[in-house]
Amino acid sequence: MESTLRRTWAEIDLDAMAHNYKVLCGRMGAQTQFLGVVKADAYGHGAVQISRVLEELGAAYLAVSSVDEARELRSAGAALPVLQLGLTPAEQTEQLLAGHITQTVWSERAALAFSREAERLGGRLRVHIKLDTGMSRLGFLCTEEELASSAEAICRVCALPGLEPEGIFTHFSVSDEGSSDSRAYTLLQHQRFQAMLDALEARGVRFALRHCANSGAAANYPQFGYDLFRPGILSYGIGDGAAELGLRPVMALKTVVGEVRDLPPGASVSYGRTYRASSSIRVGVLPIGYADGLHRTLSNRWRVWTPWGFAPILGRICMDMTMVDLTALPQVTPGSEVEVYGPHNSVNDAARLAQTISYELTCAVSKRVPRIYRRNGRECARELLLRE
Ligand SMILES: *Cc1c(COP(=O)(O)O)cnc(C)c1O
Repeated sequence: MESTLRRTWAEIDLDAMAHNYKVLCGRMGAQTQFLGVVKADAYGHGAVQISRVLEELGAAYLAVSSVDEARELRSAGAALPVLQLGLTPAEQTEQLLAGHITQTVWSERAALAFSREAERLGGRLRVHIKLDTGMSRLGFLCTEEELASSAEAICRVCALPGLEPEGIFTHFSVSDEGSSDSRAYTLLQHQRFQAMLDALEARGVRFALRHCANSGAAANYPQFGYDLFRPGILSYGIGDGAAELGLRPVMALKTVVGEVRDLPPGASVSYGRTYRASSSIRVGVLPIGYADGLHRTLSNRWRVWTPWGFAPILGRICMDMTMVDLTALPQVTPGSEVEVYGPHNSVNDAARLAQTISYELTCAVSKRVPRIYRRNGRECARELLLRE
């Protein structure tokens, strides 16, 4: 791992994570507990370390999107309840039970299959019911027309043997968007959620854990708190509204200048010759490329931060290397550290240029990039996902 350290690495600032946790909890109020969304290796930040910090801080729950991700947390000693948000084949019920993993139930058909398996195995599977209030992905439909029949179906699900219904939730599709259309839609989704809770209560069914707020809702609708809230991207200090809320980016993707070269006018840089120097240029060669997760669409668009200013990317990003313009930055020399994304160089801006979202860029930071964890301003752990 030492060998890769002076190449490209991601610093994960656990103090920033703790700060964001406190800010977000303060926003939602004391009745609403924190469910840490650590799917996709905590959006590329490292689920095991992030979960440990969240557990220490007092989070109530963790959420992942596969049984394997949940098992990774359990193997690392995570004691918090873990919710599997996504699709799980009923054949994995044994693993759910063994890992004390809570499963989302998105339809009566899925509930029957889980119930049958849990009964066969002699266990009780803890479940959260998923409501489709307008995302059209998974869940019991909650439109006015479907409300009564879905409520009846959920009541039948709750009476199935082998299941322990603990929670109920829904997911917003445009809570992060400020247009009047999006606001109206989010209010409609919330209204459907509340209507279903009321319909179930009228039938004598109540859930201990009701939740709907993702990051967008935490930012724009803190009144949608209920028992838990599920902020993913904002807890990592990025995404829409993060800066306005005073949140701090947790990840800094860093690399070093591996070589510096003076090139003559007319030099064309990298594959495809998409950049051509009109005068002499001083070029830095960085040991980072799209195989590290640096999106190739950022070729000729993004920049890296140095303490003396920004260095624009020249030409196409290669698999393992990227060239940057150091002509105006004579202080930068071989060995200088640069920030690809992070507190000085927001991944939100890079995402906009790449016509994607910050989520995709941090999730893309690949397994050959070591994660260096920092706490109280000091390195406290490192992880490399490559097999040694
Ligand atoms: C991923 C996910 C979240 C977190 O979303 P963010 O936009 O990152 O806050 C919350 N709930 C569900 C069901 C999810 O799949």
